[in-house]
Amino acid sequence: MANAEIGVIGGSGLYSFLEDVTEVRVDTPYGQPSDSLFLGEVGGRRVAFLPRHGRGHHLPPHRINYRANMWALRSVGVRQVLGPCAVGGLRPEYGPGTLLVPDQMVDRTKARTQTFYDGETRADGAEPNVLHLGFADPYCPEGRRAALAAARAKSWEPVDGGTLVVIEGPRFSTRAESRWHAAMGWSVVGMTGHPEAVLARELGLCYTTMTLVTDLDAGAEAGEGVSHGEVLEVFAANVDRLRAVLFDVVAALPAEADRDCPCSHALDGLKTGIELP
Ligand SMILES: [Zn+2]
Repeated sequence: MANAEIGVIGGSGLYSFLEDVTEVRVDTPYGQPSDSLFLGEVGGRRVAFLPRHGRGHHLPPHRINYRANMWALRSVGVRQVLGPCAVGGLRPEYGPGTLLVPDQMVDRTKARTQTFYDGETRADGAEPNVLHLGFADPYCPEGRRAALAAARAKSWEPVDGGTLVVIEGPRFSTRAESRWHAAMGWSVVGMTGHPEAVLARELGLCYTTMTLVTDLDAGAEAGEGVSHGEVLEVFAANVDRLRAVLFDVVAALPAEADRDCPCSHALDGLKTGIELP
């Protein structure tokens, strides 16, 4: 099977112009991922792209099979994942076009399977599949460093750190929810960052997100709140430079042999109870 070392979860705008892209369909014990994987080369690295919402954007955030997505990436050899996403800004200074690389995350989702370790006894009668992993720092420090440096090199001064709050969606926040998120000191709000990050950790993968602010959230402005059209417009206006930065991040990520961040050791010495691909 074709292989890759780095995974990028994002829309088709990120890979559609690459030459020599191989489409690979991957089935997983958790069902079908959002779409095929699209394998290509970027900056001398083998990359697997996965359209998070499927081609044609038919999957809303709460219907995405996050487990299948992460499992599929790992099964083609991916060990480092970049998961850029569109977010709303919770502070007036984080207006549309802001690039923020969070270092923290708050889970406000309600109905998503967020673990591979759900206690099922394996068919061979081995121990139940239970594991509690540390998640104090949800993002890869090496990936964050590469993301910040790549953005700066492209003169897109990023916000270094902040908290991404992930809501269930698909609706946007009420004004009260949004004001509350802002009052808690959180920075940006999105719908896909969880459980992507934790599932990556559970498979021993590095995960880094870069958030692109497409709008100010309802509590951060006096206007009517967010519209979906507004989000798409700002995303389209920034997709070229986001892709350019992402490709530089891909090229700058450590080689597998040099990977020594905490996420790469997350499963060291643990009995996971599942056979990792
Ligand atoms: Zn890492």
